[in-house]
Amino acid sequence: MTALPTQRRCDRTGSRARLAIAAAAALGLATVAGQRSTDAQQSVPPRPAASAAAIRAIPVRGNIYMLAGAGANVAVSVGKDGLVVVDSGSPDKSDALLAALQGLSRSVTSRAMPEPSCVGVVSGCPWWNSSQFLPITAAPPAPRPIIGIINTSSDADRIGGNARLSTAGKSFGVRNAANVTNAWIVAHENVASAMSKLTPAPAADAMPSESYFGADKKLNYINGEPVIVSYRPAAHSNGDSMVHFRASDVLVTGEIMDMASYPVIDVAHGGTIDGMVDALNWILDVAVVEHMMEGGTMIVPGHGRLADAADVAYYRDMMTIFRDRIRELSKRGMTLAQIQAAKPTKDYDPRFGRNPAWTPAQLVEAMYKTIKKS
Ligand SMILES: [Zn+2]
Repeated sequence: MTALPTQRRCDRTGSRARLAIAAAAALGLATVAGQRSTDAQQSVPPRPAASAAAIRAIPVRGNIYMLAGAGANVAVSVGKDGLVVVDSGSPDKSDALLAALQGLSRSVTSRAMPEPSCVGVVSGCPWWNSSQFLPITAAPPAPRPIIGIINTSSDADRIGGNARLSTAGKSFGVRNAANVTNAWIVAHENVASAMSKLTPAPAADAMPSESYFGADKKLNYINGEPVIVSYRPAAHSNGDSMVHFRASDVLVTGEIMDMASYPVIDVAHGGTIDGMVDALNWILDVAVVEHMMEGGTMIVPGHGRLADAADVAYYRDMMTIFRDRIRELSKRGMTLAQIQAAKPTKDYDPRFGRNPAWTPAQLVEAMYKTIKKS
């Protein structure tokens, strides 16, 4: 995975060859994610084996791994301070996810911690060991436990494993809270509020132990890097957070990005098309590209394969085009049914419109209901 940028050769012959290279790289990523089984697996660098076969752990960069197969993509920072997990998957996958996380922790934190590649070409990276105080104070022995969970929204596939993972974990060291013994859970306050209205009510252990309001929340340095949780209003829902691991430079988007489907705009929970476009533009503000729009900041989407800024730009363009089309059609006085019949998403449907649980007609309805008409 980390070898990808060097595999992308400089190309001056035109965009077509570059697209072919990008497509090949994308295929490679899909292969690692277990969606295909081809010879390309031979070239994948060795990775820690997840003990739950259905869950694949994909090294992204630095401390960060993406776990695929838990009902939604789950990202995790693994290191000396323990495991910080972004989202907890579907409830029926929580045992498998926990086993995969424990396997990953065993293989990464039980042995002498490998000197990570850090950032760029510097070897040695002494600053990477910045949180070395913690293992000599309160740390339980390796393998390190899950110390915290961040929920990017209140969707069932984001919070489903909260109770299982939190009670299996232990809060210590960074962000140690006096009244929290399980792993802490951080979410935007609108997620806590939405969860408190669910029926049946979630277990107390599943509820956020700490909710935030305002534009963002800086968590501590964890595993040697800043972890920033950013709130993006009224996008997929009214409680969307994105998580930036700032030294590994991996951004976890939750439901804002879905590489296998159109993004879900959950109108009943405060999602809007304008907020969705704003959130995608915000990702592009944060992301830094490496070469010709490729590589650089790695994006862990809510579902589907790993992405980079080029994928986000494509996705942002698509959603902006849809918004403008629907705004224009509704200005002309067309009804929802007429706009749906006009198929304003048709050119992208072959790639993103195949999800029976979130059809193009449903997306159009959500956009139509939330678009600013002027
Ligand atoms: Zn989802």
